[in-house]
Amino acid sequence: MPIDFNLAPDVEEVRQRVRKFMESEVRPAEDKLREEKADRNAYVQAIVQLRQKARAEGLWNPHLPPEWGGMGLGPVAMAFMSAEAGRTTIGPFVINAQAPDEGNMHTLLHWGTAEQKEKYLRPLADGLCRSCFAMTEPEVAGSDPTLIQTTAVKDGDEWVLNGHKWFSSGAHGARFAIVIARTDPDADPPQARNSAFLVDTPTEGWEIVRDVETLVGAANHPEVRLTNVRVPADNMLGGRGDGHRLGQYRLGPARLAHCMRWIGTAEVALEMMVDRALKRYSHGSYLAEKQAIQWMMADSAMELYTGKLMVLHAAYKIENGLPFRQEVSMAKVHVANALWRIIDRAIQVHGALGITTDLPLEQMLRGSRFARLADGADEVHMQTIARNVIAAFKESGSTRAATGDLL
Ligand SMILES: Cc1cc2nc3c(=O)[nH]c(=O)nc-3n(C[C@H](O)[C@H](O)[C@H](O)COP(=O)(O)OP(=O)(O)OC[C@H]3O[C@@H](n4cnc5c(N)ncnc54)[C@H](O)[C@@H]3O)c2cc1C
Repeated sequence: MPIDFNLAPDVEEVRQRVRKFMESEVRPAEDKLREEKADRNAYVQAIVQLRQKARAEGLWNPHLPPEWGGMGLGPVAMAFMSAEAGRTTIGPFVINAQAPDEGNMHTLLHWGTAEQKEKYLRPLADGLCRSCFAMTEPEVAGSDPTLIQTTAVKDGDEWVLNGHKWFSSGAHGARFAIVIARTDPDADPPQARNSAFLVDTPTEGWEIVRDVETLVGAANHPEVRLTNVRVPADNMLGGRGDGHRLGQYRLGPARLAHCMRWIGTAEVALEMMVDRALKRYSHGSYLAEKQAIQWMMADSAMELYTGKLMVLHAAYKIENGLPFRQEVSMAKVHVANALWRIIDRAIQVHGALGITTDLPLEQMLRGSRFARLADGADEVHMQTIARNVIAAFKESGSTRAATGDLL
């Protein structure tokens, strides 16, 4: 199997451009905001200003085709771009590739009608609005979307939605929501019971109950109640009963996009770990000379390396129209866990300083815990991964097809 690890010249060019932009514009702005303990408003102002610069540099909507004002990058080039942007917290927002909007843009591009694209995708792509994706419900396991209880009932030319959602990330201030609701309770298979709807927000019956507080505080993951929310029939996104497929389609590339950003974050943590170890002196030598510290660096380097290879391979498979689910699941679990461990080790090497708010590490650690839950909990991915391993073995006597299909 021929393998070429050289980057195509256009991908390398994009990588260099975004790296330079992130280092010269975004990193200093973010450092300043953190030092000043800036509030949300100041962050928003900074992002708005940086967005103008990013657009002028042609670093805007990397995930969208040019006709939607994007850079038209494929998943592999996107992996490099996102890893660079993920080295800062605000980087993805600056290039308009932040969750959940990036995933929603992909979804609209693929599933939207021409009218839906013009009404919902266009302003999102222009950075004029934000959106949210409302699937998870407090009463039933989000890991199993066939359990969704929110209902949508047809009434003339409209659908009437009733239900209860939470962790609808970005719902505060969103101009619209993609809501997954049950339209066909008796459909067989159960995966055909749900449909997706574009809901303009706020609207009558759409009530944001509270911003659910997590270990990063209130970070716009609201609980939402829908009471007789009326939606025109034309606002069904995809076909009737396509809600599950749409969710799966959305989450494939979206999961990988998260991994790409997490790689950038983990890389920063490892760099901080090494920098500190080279400067901190204890018991006759620098920390970097202690084997216990070197092992932490070595473990982190290996985890980062395997994570990068997994993400790039999964992106390659998506780009080339090959089956990618298994690789995305494996990359997602691996990178989400490596992210936590690498930041944790970086904190350990910094000693008490590591958990202070003088450094971004404590925030990075708190901000990374969700990675093992959102877009599919570890155990659910592991169940799928194992199922595929068993199926591959049963089919061919080898697990090769479920382990990257490489050697
Ligand atoms: C920061 C954050 C942002 C989010 N953003 C969004 C969003 O924008 N829109 C949205 O709709 N949702 C969002 N979510 C919700 C997320 O998708 C769900 O948390 C996830 O799907 C898991 O569902 P749950 O929380 O109901 O956990 P449950 O499904 O109740 O699972 C709880 C635990 O049970 C275990 N488990 C579940 N099933 C199995 C199994 N089959 N085998 C073994 N163990 C199992 C796992 O350990 C799992 O963590 C977000 C979550 C977080 C944390």
